Amino acid sequence: MTLGGRHALVTGGGQGIGAAVARALTTAGARVTVLGRHAETLEAVVAAGTAAAYVVADVTDATALPSAMAELAPVDILVNNAGAAESAPFVRTTSELWARMLAVNLTGVFVATQAVLPGMLARRWGRVVTIASTAGLTGYPYVSAYAAAKHGAIGLTRALAREIAASGVTVNAVCPGYTQTALIETSIARIAARGARSTESIRAEFTRASPQGRLVQPEEVAAAVLYFCGPGSDAVTGVSLPVAGGEVQ
Ligand code: NDP
Repeated sequence: MTLGGRHALVTGGGQGIGAAVARALTTAGARVTVLGRHAETLEAVVAAGTAAAYVVADVTDATALPSAMAELAPVDILVNNAGAAESAPFVRTTSELWARMLAVNLTGVFVATQAVLPGMLARRWGRVVTIASTAGLTGYPYVSAYAAAKHGAIGLTRALAREIAASGVTVNAVCPGYTQTALIETSIARIAARGARSTESIRAEFTRASPQGRLVQPEEVAAAVLYFCGPGSDAVTGVSLPVAGGEVQ
């Protein structure tokens, strides 16, 4: 129970990677609150014992998010996991799609982190872990907005880590490769709906992207988050750790 007495907030903790992170933190002894837009999903996570509590909020609402977070007990561990991945060729990337990707994957990280950081600094202990992506470390076709947002999240991580390096608060990012969640299933379905390729061939392409020839499992991403939050990681800050089977190094 290495995280006993710590309160963790996991954005997007209702499913996928966020739910796996919530489970891992709970197992390590933290009191976990999950945040998302849909109460039923979050309720189910709490009912299953994956988290202790939930809060309904949208990370893209820069006014409501800090108010919702202010209602919570002080947050010792913030996992910025909420995100979405829409794709389009660059010339068909609308300003609306661009704004959506930046709002959820980058500005949401800024707003949530700013809401909890003063408390962490005052208590001289805190962990901020952002689930970025390999798309934050390298480029992929058709996801320029998503990749720009995830590169931005890594830039924020690096800059903030240096700014508060001596404070007792660490700031790191985990960069999963293609991971077995609803997000990837939705991406596969969207590409297949364009009609040129079968679901199987698209899934095979995602799988082949990893030198290990498989999708990452959410629990493997959660294990990396746990490392950044656990004892012995105090000197590790500003790092972006790929969990991607060797795809990005
Ligand atoms: P899922 O789509 O399975 O889950 C996304 C979660 O984010 C949901 O719980 C969703 O809850 C929440 N969410 C989405 N938008 C908002 C919002 N505006 N406000 C609050 N919560 C929101 O995705 P994954 O688990 O796969 O992805 C989690 C993170 O990992 C994302 O940041 C993603 O970019 C990143 N990632 C995923 C990869 C993959 O291949 N799966 C690879 C690399 C990175 P709700 O809809 O109820 O609000």
